[in-house]
Amino acid sequence: MNISHKFPVLCDLDGVVWLAHQPINGSADAVERLRTAGHRVVFVTNNSSATVADQEAALLKVGIPAVGDVITSAMAGAHLLSAGERVLMCGGPGLAEAIAKVGAISVSHDDVENGAAVDAVIVGFHRHFDYEILRRASTAIRNGARFIGTNDDATYPTPSGPIPGGGSILAAMTTGSGVQPIVAGKPHGAMADVVRSVVKNVGADAVMVGDRPSTDGGFAATLGCRFALVRSGVTPVGVMPEDESAWFAGTTLDIDVPNLAAVADVLLK
Ligand SMILES: [Mg+2]
Repeated sequence: MNISHKFPVLCDLDGVVWLAHQPINGSADAVERLRTAGHRVVFVTNNSSATVADQEAALLKVGIPAVGDVITSAMAGAHLLSAGERVLMCGGPGLAEAIAKVGAISVSHDDVENGAAVDAVIVGFHRHFDYEILRRASTAIRNGARFIGTNDDATYPTPSGPIPGGGSILAAMTTGSGVQPIVAGKPHGAMADVVRSVVKNVGADAVMVGDRPSTDGGFAATLGCRFALVRSGVTPVGVMPEDESAWFAGTTLDIDVPNLAAVADVLLK
């Protein structure tokens, strides 16, 4: 028998579930209500620096069981690599984990310094980014390595305001190398491929919940599903598409509400 499933809810993390791991009011309860009603809730984050296990543990800590339900831009970036490729990794533990999982080989920065060949440079958010990493990566790209970014978010929301995100690091490497990166995370196609491989029934009725139109709204468009904008992250209350068209970048707001709890209210009505 063909069992019909309820549409899945794809949920961004930063600015939707939490701000720098401080839970946003009602988010855990909203996830539980959606799951109880039969919706699969999967977390789709452009955070590439934390491992999947760490992100699952952080979700559990705010009351959301999530084992097997976290998809990261590190996974999307690694999706663009092949087994056996030699990779210069400029990112955090989550990116290292994803590279190993697809069977690509992380070449150490010391070996690259000593002339080791590199097939691809892959870049994600990392706080130890410095000039030497920028120089090494830019040189490898100039020498012909493919240039992959896990995501191009310019900023990352925190309770005290935005801080530079992975896109800021990527921009430095783009300038340093003179080459445009292939970007993997939301709103790009590699992330959509990974989502479709994990979540089987992503149709037009699926919902992508996010706080940033350019990434989350754009990703809904890439997937061909609905977009629910929440105003609990980088898009402030009161900023409207008719006033700030560049910020909304042509995104369709199927749902526009204050937070994830309100999204659940709309979807479960
Ligand atoms: Mg976000």
